[in-house]
Amino acid sequence: MAESMSRVDLHVHTTASDGTMSPTEVVRYAKEKGLRAMAITDHDTVEGIEEGVQEGERLNLEVIPGVELSVDFPKGTMHLLGYYIDPNCAELADKLVVVQQARAERNIKMIKKLQGLGIEIDFSEVKKFSEHGQIGRPHFAYIMVQNGYARNIQDAFDRFLCKGGPAYVEKLKFPPEEAIGFIIKAGGIAVLAHPFTLNQPKEKELEDLVVELKEKGLEGIEVYHPEHTEGQKRFYRYLAQRHGLFISGGSDFHGLTKGGVDLGNGYGDMGLPYSMVEELKTRRRVRFAGI
Ligand code: AMP
Ligand code: ZN
Ligand code: FE
Ligand code: FE
Repeated sequence: MAESMSRVDLHVHTTASDGTMSPTEVVRYAKEKGLRAMAITDHDTVEGIEEGVQEGERLNLEVIPGVELSVDFPKGTMHLLGYYIDPNCAELADKLVVVQQARAERNIKMIKKLQGLGIEIDFSEVKKFSEHGQIGRPHFAYIMVQNGYARNIQDAFDRFLCKGGPAYVEKLKFPPEEAIGFIIKAGGIAVLAHPFTLNQPKEKELEDLVVELKEKGLEGIEVYHPEHTEGQKRFYRYLAQRHGLFISGGSDFHGLTKGGVDLGNGYGDMGLPYSMVEELKTRRRVRFAGI
């Protein structure tokens, strides 16, 4: 089998959240890129999974059902990935409904804040761009760029939408132990996403946090992410190995709302091996054998 046929991407967004390709499109694109497996990990929703898994079956590409939950962590941004979650888990689904209602209210507040700042974007335009998926800040950013209020998506975030920015509104988030608990209840494996966003520059503090999360059921760390520096990757890999955690990775592909980041590759050539998926499966087997 060709080397590229054994590549994987374990962090991918679709139109169910703030990606710009539908689950079907993104799976087809993964096939074109020669990936062997990918995980659909939309923010706070499982709506894209079924369609993606079906397209994967059709194209003989393994689609891992996943989710990316926003977690309450005042010092920075904490996201937790859940792999192999059951999208039909009622407890998780009920909680996600509450989160989505809160997001809808947040979006109205954000549009008002933007309008107060002289940014006259029309919510119906944002809604249309989201293609009926869940609306998030990248959709606002994209429409701001389209209407000349920002040079690019990053500029829209830096000047208006970033955490603490003038148009930012907090989201309803899960406490860490609750997020891990929901992932486990749904049969999933909880992985700490892109640790650099935790804004925890002190290595010892990050390690203490990882240990704390592991005690609550965390099983992995996303070591490979396009925004990680070589030094960060080294440290996160060390942390994972030292604490017996799964080493994960993915491009965090969003399509047009995150320009320059390509599926399977990030900014360059990520080349993540299929053995990552094998390790996930081993952990899953151990979990079920242990029940
Ligand atoms: P939301 O779920 O509405 O809070 O939006 C989260 C998304 O916004 C994530 O997918 C990030 O990729 C993107 N994002 C968050 N913060 C930034 C930032 N400072 N710069 C660029 N993109 C960001
Ligand atoms: Zn996103
Ligand atoms: Fe994230
Ligand atoms: Fe993501």
